[in-house]
Amino acid sequence: MRPVQAQKLEPFGTTIFSEMTRLAQERGAINLSQGFPDFDGPEQLIRAASRALNSGENQYARSMGHPELVRAVADRRRADHGLEYDPMEEVGVYSGATEGLAAAMLGMLNPGDEVVFFEPYYDSYPACAALAGAKPRFVTLEAPDFRIRSEDLERAITPRTRLVVLNSPHNPTGRVFDTEELEIVAELSLEHGLRVLTDEVYEYLVYDGATHVPLATLPGMRERTWSVSSLGKSYSVTGWKIGWATGPKDMIGAAQAAHQFLTFATATPLQKAAAFALNTLRDDYLAEFSRDYLERRDFLVDALMRAGLSPFVPEGTYFVLADFTDVFEGSDVEFVRYLIDKVGIAAIPPTAFYTANPAAGSKLVRFAFCKTMDTLREAARRLEAMGS
Ligand code: PMP
Ligand code: GLN
Repeated sequence: MRPVQAQKLEPFGTTIFSEMTRLAQERGAINLSQGFPDFDGPEQLIRAASRALNSGENQYARSMGHPELVRAVADRRRADHGLEYDPMEEVGVYSGATEGLAAAMLGMLNPGDEVVFFEPYYDSYPACAALAGAKPRFVTLEAPDFRIRSEDLERAITPRTRLVVLNSPHNPTGRVFDTEELEIVAELSLEHGLRVLTDEVYEYLVYDGATHVPLATLPGMRERTWSVSSLGKSYSVTGWKIGWATGPKDMIGAAQAAHQFLTFATATPLQKAAAFALNTLRDDYLAEFSRDYLERRDFLVDALMRAGLSPFVPEGTYFVLADFTDVFEGSDVEFVRYLIDKVGIAAIPPTAFYTANPAAGSKLVRFAFCKTMDTLREAARRLEAMGS
């Protein structure tokens, strides 16, 4: 019999996140692989969701997003960055940023079009391009600085390029791209008439005075940039899968053209709770949130250094990449297997996030620090025992 699975999905297999979390559970390892907190979201938010469930609003929501949530998203974008969006036409709500990105690529790319990704990437990007029948081109961000360089991006652009996808703060490098790098993306997009999808799910997780500057705030970019974010990261409820995007009407409309047939609408009561979060859990909550994460980051970075690894201190996100050359000979996949079997820690082998130049990630390992300090202390203890 012919294989039942469509060929276009064949190269992608099972996502590394499912694979590593399964292995962590099987082996009883501390799971620093998949990026989800091992603690609950804020009590007030859980109560808001429970109120919403009991409010009688349990039927389909408006396809483009519950009016309360799209208004909250537009308000937040204005308050945070001075960006104005019409809540009813320039905001879209999706079942997570992942669905939003899929809807955007399916809604904006024709077969044969090209899309530029920076690698290492969030693994859904190339799979979405494949679903859309588009051709990905990759720009490798190289250690140690993982900077965007104009000549590298320019080389990836062809007359068929339609989209550039930019994730900042960046998973897995922890980079928060600075104005100079954003200007490179803006300049080349304007010059070549490209649209940009920005993935800003870690927008509130920045450290050491780094500032997250949305690309849409640069001159000329608001009209060509679609920007996605997500409740999961900033409010520690990754399982709710509530995402949203802001952008010009034509880009929100193009993503909507696909979204209406992918999921049609997203869980109504959770959208109401998301609106509560955006309207209510603001400056004080977010300040405490990033302070807590700074403590976790510093603790894990220190533990990795003590274990002989060389971490790249992240400027943002809840991930840290580390070079393991000094403690292990072999590939990232072999090192991660060793970590699970012998050290009791699950991590991600970053070559899963590369296509063009996997060698650039083959001596790196990614750890997530969206975990309680107790979990991180136990991980540090295990790392300390490594090799002894
Ligand atoms: N983008 C990036 C860069 C991510 O790391 C993640 C991870 N969860 C997502 C998007 C997905 O967000 P969501 O859970 O809202 O689909
Ligand atoms: N974004 C999360 C990570 O990088 C995982 C998302 C997922 O499991 N699909 O770990």
